[in-house]
Amino acid sequence: MTSEFALLYVVPTPLGNLNDISDRARSVLCEVVWVAAEDTRHSAPLLKYIGSRARLMAAHQHNEHAAAEQVLARLLAGESVAVISDAGTPGISDPGAYIVAHVRAAGGKVIPIPGPCAAATALSAAGLKDERWLFYGFLPAKSGQRQKALAEVATLPYALVFYEAPHRVLESVADLSATLGAKRTLVIARELTKQFETIHSLPLGEALEWLTADAMRQKGEFVLIVSGAAAAGNDGEGERILKLLLAEDLPVKQAAKLAAAITGTSKNALYARALALKER
Ligand code: SAM
Repeated sequence: MTSEFALLYVVPTPLGNLNDISDRARSVLCEVVWVAAEDTRHSAPLLKYIGSRARLMAAHQHNEHAAAEQVLARLLAGESVAVISDAGTPGISDPGAYIVAHVRAAGGKVIPIPGPCAAATALSAAGLKDERWLFYGFLPAKSGQRQKALAEVATLPYALVFYEAPHRVLESVADLSATLGAKRTLVIARELTKQFETIHSLPLGEALEWLTADAMRQKGEFVLIVSGAAAAGNDGEGERILKLLLAEDLPVKQAAKLAAAITGTSKNALYARALALKER
């Protein structure tokens, strides 16, 4: 056994279609000694499919600190490790970041392999005008906290990218519409790379009706992308005017109403934003 500090690889895996694994990801997973997987039972068939005989260790949300120690020990013993998650890129709404930080802090080298990511895949087919986007990931599960979280981003001039689970998609879409404004475009990217892949764009205010018109539309995995406040033509102007009016001690409701009338930004979005600003 060599005592050289071995390499840690971060390896994305397919979102659904097994052919999406890259040649480089495949060879890394076949060459490393260890694969640290979010769910070893889930990943074993993928490793078998590509012919990897790497040894598996568990590295999930609940053991990430212990797993990081284990990964570091293996690397220090000269054994290379690849981190993978159940699907897509580790560290993106998935475990992996702590292990990476731990290894880099100890002086180890981390090699990222580019590959599948649901957010990037959805964005590539969203066709929105926004040049900039913000990756939010999962919103809070409870409606009150979700609306508060949305108020923080309601007036940003960036497309907003959310991950959502099927059992929460209806309530989240209802809150997106109420908080961000019914006129903004929503892109629903569902079951990407899988048999029932669906990519559908519509105004946020029409999304609930569309989703409930067919129960199949609520099934599977979702990326939800909302066009930025800038795409509505106000370029953060709504937020600027809102802040000016609040600074003049106008009541929240009136400030939101006036800022909406002046700039064309959604009144609901500005109201939610004004409440968030007042709470600081
Ligand atoms: N690390 C992954 C990535 O790089 O995209 C994301 C992992 S996160 C735990 C899982 C979420 O990603 C799902 O709830 C869904 O929002 C999104 N997602 C994963 N696979 C997807 C797919 N095939 N189609 C649409 N969304 C997907």
